[in-house]
Amino acid sequence: VTLSAEVLAIGDELVYGRSVDTNSAWLARRLADLGLPVVQISVVGDGEEYLRRAISTACQRSDIVVVTGGLGPTEDDRTRRVVAKVCGEPLRFDEASWRDIQTVLKVYTQQGRAIPVSNRLQAEFPESAQVLKNDCGSAPGFFVEVGGCTLYALPGVPREMYAMWDAHVQPILRTRSDQQVHAHNLHVVGYREADLGERLQDFMIEGQAVKVGITASRGQLTIRILGFDRGLVDSAATAIRPLLGEHLIYEGEHSLEEEVGRQLIKHGVTIALAESCTGGLMAAALTEIPGISSVFLAGFVTYSEQAKSRDLGVDAAILTEHGVVSESVAAAMARGAATKSGARLAISVTGIAGPDGGTPEQPVGTVCFGLYFDGETSTLERRFGDLGRELLRQRSVREGLVWLCRTLARID
Ligand code: ATP
Ligand code: MG
Repeated sequence: VTLSAEVLAIGDELVYGRSVDTNSAWLARRLADLGLPVVQISVVGDGEEYLRRAISTACQRSDIVVVTGGLGPTEDDRTRRVVAKVCGEPLRFDEASWRDIQTVLKVYTQQGRAIPVSNRLQAEFPESAQVLKNDCGSAPGFFVEVGGCTLYALPGVPREMYAMWDAHVQPILRTRSDQQVHAHNLHVVGYREADLGERLQDFMIEGQAVKVGITASRGQLTIRILGFDRGLVDSAATAIRPLLGEHLIYEGEHSLEEEVGRQLIKHGVTIALAESCTGGLMAAALTEIPGISSVFLAGFVTYSEQAKSRDLGVDAAILTEHGVVSESVAAAMARGAATKSGARLAISVTGIAGPDGGTPEQPVGTVCFGLYFDGETSTLERRFGDLGRELLRQRSVREGLVWLCRTLARID
């Protein structure tokens, strides 16, 4: 049997739009990995009656409910009290938790002050609840049976919630779920989501043993295959692969920058970057990868024409003749970065990020790339359209990474 899970985020700041509920997505992902698919995520404010109804319906609907928030010491932190009400139980004061809270708050005693009485409330739990220790904050969590459901109450502070999940909740849930979820990701570029969806529609019918989904992010599509049977997941991947052809760029759970980093390191290919409109974002993406220092020789941020000439040796004549956003300049930048750094591979990017600088011939969103590899230079022009500066820069970084990924895949 598959148990269903549900996540409930609690806090006025979340429903007022003051902060964004990131806890739920984090938890949903981990629950899914444990073979406990999440059927609903909800967000509710601190108001007692709304809270009571949200907790009580969640517990009726799902086998496992994870709530975050409302465990603090103040009047508006009502999770303990409301859960006790839903269970029809009184609150019980837990001496051991109170000792833990006092240890965490020892700064008060060190300063010769008494620990606020309100912190004592954090040691109260529904009668039949079991306490979950908080290893990096004052609010302990707990779990308790509510009807046929188990409710886990965790802190709202993300860092404390993560730690409590990893140390105390996940080990419990692992023993409850006898199924393990297997996943396989195929990353695709150059397809429109609807077109890819049509190609894959036979795989996407609800109720099959293997679930196939498509998600789009910054010009890249990810096909995610999920199932409880590793063999079935692998055969679905085998069946889908030929439908993708050269659109398939890589496979796996990891990010595109990580794929590029791993391939560079694996093949020992040294790299340099020459960036204009991306202002170092590509270098930032690559340096996210641990161990990249063995191959990443240099990143040049050459925003002005003078810097392109001075730092990369781009001929002033090319700049005047072709314009700073041109394939010729991109080629010269890539060559220059390789020459100056001694790298075997170099990629460059120069484009019009807007909002100004576009012309009818070269609208905002025109981006040129140059790629130098083992003495050969190739170029590419893309017209992404006026996506806005931020998105355009991100798209440009991804496009560059995709090109690197393809180039590295051809080695050997
Ligand atoms: P605790 O249960 O640890 O006492 P709380 O809900 O009482 O949590 P708050 O003061 O409401 O504590 O929130 C503490 C911090 O945690 C705030 O910065 C808040 O934005 C953040 N936070 C609370 N819930 C979430 C959530 N679901 N996702 C992301 N951040 C959250
Ligand atoms: Mg709160």
